[in-house]
Amino acid sequence: MNPAVGDRSSIYIGRFAPSPSGPLHFGSLVAAVASFLDAKSCAGQWLVRIEDLDPPRAVAGSDHVILSQLAAHGLRPDQPVVYQSQRLPQYAAAVKKLKQQGLVYHCRCARRDYQTHYPGTCRTQNLKPEPGGTALRFRVGSSPHTLVDRVHGALTWHYGESMSDFVVQRKDGLHAYQLAVVIDDIDQRISHVVRGADLLHAAPLQEALFTALEATPPKQLHIPVVLGNDGRKLSKQARAKPLDTENPVNNLRRALAFLNQRQPPQHTLENFLKYACDHWQPERIPALMGRSETTN
Ligand SMILES: [Zn+2]
Repeated sequence: MNPAVGDRSSIYIGRFAPSPSGPLHFGSLVAAVASFLDAKSCAGQWLVRIEDLDPPRAVAGSDHVILSQLAAHGLRPDQPVVYQSQRLPQYAAAVKKLKQQGLVYHCRCARRDYQTHYPGTCRTQNLKPEPGGTALRFRVGSSPHTLVDRVHGALTWHYGESMSDFVVQRKDGLHAYQLAVVIDDIDQRISHVVRGADLLHAAPLQEALFTALEATPPKQLHIPVVLGNDGRKLSKQARAKPLDTENPVNNLRRALAFLNQRQPPQHTLENFLKYACDHWQPERIPALMGRSETTN
């Protein structure tokens, strides 16, 4: 089997999971289009999940803006939209399960001390929980973790070098992104994840959680991140231009060009998407981490 194509014989459920921190920009459209076409080309379902776990970062009403921007581009989810803020009991249940298995420990360290790599300071301290003072960290296994990405091929992470114990529940009690994503993917029976390469580092951590929760991790495909003229990732925080919905076919053309896909000759939205789906070739996606919109 060509790893880039995926297994078309099994049930495919994919998803696009934006955070409601502002309207979609071109970079998020590329991720939405890639996940949509990959699912649809396998006769699969495409779901949308709003990652509104972090209330201070959410911008009121931007979920509706995002959904209407997607709809304007012909990207409509096959099931009702799921909101992470509605799923706190499920996350709490997962944390309880991890606790019972002894797979998490209390950590007192400040987040700013370990932005990239946590050296396991509290791993063997057996600290007692202090409300507001301790976070819960997942204990990552010490053997190397290899994962096959459909674009990047086999990648190996080493404990203590490229992966370390990570927070599943923050000091303020909020469930962490890594935990919520995995629980959502399990509950929504997500079989394939297609997202930006800026999340590639999270893939082995999430796989470790899937395994701990006795679930099969989804197949992975990480697309290049869209960079702006300044060479940085387009993001809502960096005030990327919101996607305009005046000419959706034109936006989709740019997205397909970025993903190195064949350009449909059609000009109407529905026919355009059908052609794009029929000619979707994930093996043509470049294996670069970041890529400017204008380079082909
Ligand atoms: Zn610690």
